[in-house]
Amino acid sequence: MSELVYLDSHCHLFSDEFDKDREAVFDRAREAGVLFLNIMCTSVEEAIEAMAYSEQDPEHIKVSCGVFPTDVNELDEETWNRFERVMRDERCTCIGEIGLDYYWEKEEANRAKQRELFIRQIALANEVNKPICVHSRDAIQDTFDIMKEHRCHGLMHSFSGSEEMGKEFVKLGYYLSLGGPVTFKNARHAREVVTSMDVSYLLSETDSPYMAPEPVRGTRNEPANIPYITARMAECRGVSTEELSKQIIDNWHRFLELK
Ligand SMILES: [Zn+2]
Repeated sequence: MSELVYLDSHCHLFSDEFDKDREAVFDRAREAGVLFLNIMCTSVEEAIEAMAYSEQDPEHIKVSCGVFPTDVNELDEETWNRFERVMRDERCTCIGEIGLDYYWEKEEANRAKQRELFIRQIALANEVNKPICVHSRDAIQDTFDIMKEHRCHGLMHSFSGSEEMGKEFVKLGYYLSLGGPVTFKNARHAREVVTSMDVSYLLSETDSPYMAPEPVRGTRNEPANIPYITARMAECRGVSTEELSKQIIDNWHRFLELK
């Protein structure tokens, strides 16, 4: 068992990819010291399973649920109502992942619908007093503009914007979560963000099953890989992994308290 304690602020552990060995994945996470998990759910079905699971250990295992931006086309009112019920459930800690994805959607009409849905989910998060977990791909400026106008409490998942943009988000009180890319050779931006940001606003994540870090890049990712990411982040900042992992857990608790 690891002596250090780590956070994975973004893992899709109830997606199909983990159906065959989910318990083993949870066991390996615990073994590696990755005790704090935020399980992301992009469907109501996943969220129902994850919320039931989290009841075993609500202090460490959090659940997030929200309508993913590119799912906006299939979203009818009935589906929205089912999502809303979950998002209001007290076992659902964060609203997410929500946001904007212009990489997969090139049409302006669809992008406009994504923005509308994003704003709608921010309003709900504010109403129920929960933080949001934001997905932003090829849409950082629009994401920022919306989060500036519609202030809320939240984190940027797998933040891939520039250092300057990162600072703008932090100025508004938003947290930046970093994952596998900080270990990739070509991801200079991510490391610059890690190095230059106010350390109180940094969080760590895997985005499992995606984005496995070096040296296991290309495999199915899982929370037990967080130590690779935290160690690389600590190296960037010139501090020990122990110091940074503690700081990240403090940050996570503050984040959950909406501070
Ligand atoms: Zn995700």
